[in-house]
Amino acid sequence: MAARINYSVQNTLCLLNPFNYSINAKTTHFKTGINFSKNLIFPRKLKSPMFCTCATSNNDLQSSEPAETFVLTTPLYYVNAPPHMGSAYTTIAADAIARFQRLLGKKVIFVTGTDEHGEKIAASAAAAGSTPSDHCDVISQAYRTLWKDLEITYDKFIRTTDPKHEGIVKEFYSRVLAKGDIYRADYEGLYCVNCEEYKDEKELLDNNCCPTHLKPCIERKEDNYFFALSKYQKQLEENLTRNPKFVQPPFRLNEVQSWIKSGLKDFSISRASVDWGIPVPNNNKQTIYVWFDALLGYISALSAENEQPDLQTAVSSGWPASLHLIGKDILRFHAVYWPAMLMSAGLDLPKNVFGHGFLTKDGMKMGKSLGNTLEPNELVHNFGSDAVRYFFLREVEFGSDGDYSEERFINIVNAHLANTIGNLLNRTLGLLKKNCQSTLVVDSAVAAEGNALKDTVEKLVEKARIHYENLSLSSACEAVLEIGNAGNAYMDENAPWTLFKQGGAASEAAAKDLVIILEAMRIVAIALSPVAPSFCWRIYEQLGYSKDHFNTVTWSGTKWGGLKGGQVMAQPKPVFARIENKTELEDEAATKKPVKSKQKKPQAQVAAEA
Ligand SMILES: [Zn+2]
Repeated sequence: MAARINYSVQNTLCLLNPFNYSINAKTTHFKTGINFSKNLIFPRKLKSPMFCTCATSNNDLQSSEPAETFVLTTPLYYVNAPPHMGSAYTTIAADAIARFQRLLGKKVIFVTGTDEHGEKIAASAAAAGSTPSDHCDVISQAYRTLWKDLEITYDKFIRTTDPKHEGIVKEFYSRVLAKGDIYRADYEGLYCVNCEEYKDEKELLDNNCCPTHLKPCIERKEDNYFFALSKYQKQLEENLTRNPKFVQPPFRLNEVQSWIKSGLKDFSISRASVDWGIPVPNNNKQTIYVWFDALLGYISALSAENEQPDLQTAVSSGWPASLHLIGKDILRFHAVYWPAMLMSAGLDLPKNVFGHGFLTKDGMKMGKSLGNTLEPNELVHNFGSDAVRYFFLREVEFGSDGDYSEERFINIVNAHLANTIGNLLNRTLGLLKKNCQSTLVVDSAVAAEGNALKDTVEKLVEKARIHYENLSLSSACEAVLEIGNAGNAYMDENAPWTLFKQGGAASEAAAKDLVIILEAMRIVAIALSPVAPSFCWRIYEQLGYSKDHFNTVTWSGTKWGGLKGGQVMAQPKPVFARIENKTELEDEAATKKPVKSKQKKPQAQVAAEA
């Protein structure tokens, strides 16, 4: 349903995972020339790696209270062409939100899927010499493959050609019909074939051109079934007055209110000339049009695999949704049509509809005709999923429009992931290896007594939590990155590599400093994991933890004090490979001269070599 616009065709490529190393965190005895005072020596036995000793166990989940359920959805994407960057962006954001909600200990049902009916699908299939059904299988699979490459952890993938979905659509339709909200009428108007939609003359451009497709709409007349949207004007207004947070971000509320205020027209919910769709109950000459088909996917997705699918059991499996995440182009359908349909059927409304902005490339609208589309498969293939996820969530203020340029992309992920976080971790572990046998000398809680960095980290991580809760994903990333900045500043101010050379009390202080910085890194690894999960796992692995530990960590693990004395860190390895600027590489190939990085050598690296 996602705006049923023309998507460009692209290949599905596999993600290259440059990081595939295993943990090698052997516990070694602590032999060093430095004499630490007794209270600094770790109190625990050293025979086994100290997994699961920090405050991040999932014990806090094991209460008798059932976990709160958080249901979130992306649009069901239209399969006339493979996924484009806009769909990937919505889905990445949804995944970050789902992962954050899971960290809070909630039961999450993350719904995505594909919208597979309609005139354009049948036409695309015919053009490719395929059947609609085969065509849908191929494109739907392309979505699943991309979601896997982008590490999307959806719980339900619903296809509108799924028989269980068809049953629920028919049941919903019958309920609304019984309510007296569906009627049959002749309709004559201007129709955009690409939108598959009748248009209001006042929304069209010159020559009756569709504002989305810039092609003239055609006169069409057919007899259709209509939904009596106009009956729900008052109830929709009342809902928004009662619950202004229904539409997010807040600046989109006015838009929705003015649509409703300007008068709601009944809309057509069937097509007479489209075979590829769900037949209208009791009239198989008509098929159900997108809104009474794809929107119901949010509910049909909830029904359990082996369950006899019906509307009531699906509803009782998690409806209403906590959050519909959509692009702003389909806000009207989600914030006006859909709530009215649900009111008619006697079902609860979703709690929130969030309309995000559009992406541009190099400041220009993307389009196949402009030849400047951004291929998500290519991006993931070239840069890895962490970089792609981080860039779009950090760089685009969630809700507003955002821009992609390759230069900006490379600069941001190199500066933030490779330098600020990756390099800090790497040089700290380097110093720990050289001076402390890669072993923490004291609990992080003890090391940080009266330490200002600890207070800073606590404030920033709480800030990040609030931003995640409010779906301010960019600000959440920023708060976590600030922890990295504070860690770098701390390292540079305290210069532990100099202290270690002084020996005695200075060495003890330096060893504590390393524990403090690594604890900050541990907190970063949890707090950024909704955005860059593999990157964060690699940080966690460097800190000597197991994958199981990482997979069961919760947000309460961001509390200071997780790292304990005696814990052995892994061999220092970079957690994020710096992306080399393509033009630099091309220059090198052209001139056969050594490449000089445009960015100056990060301070961090200089220090590590010191
Ligand atoms: Zn159009």
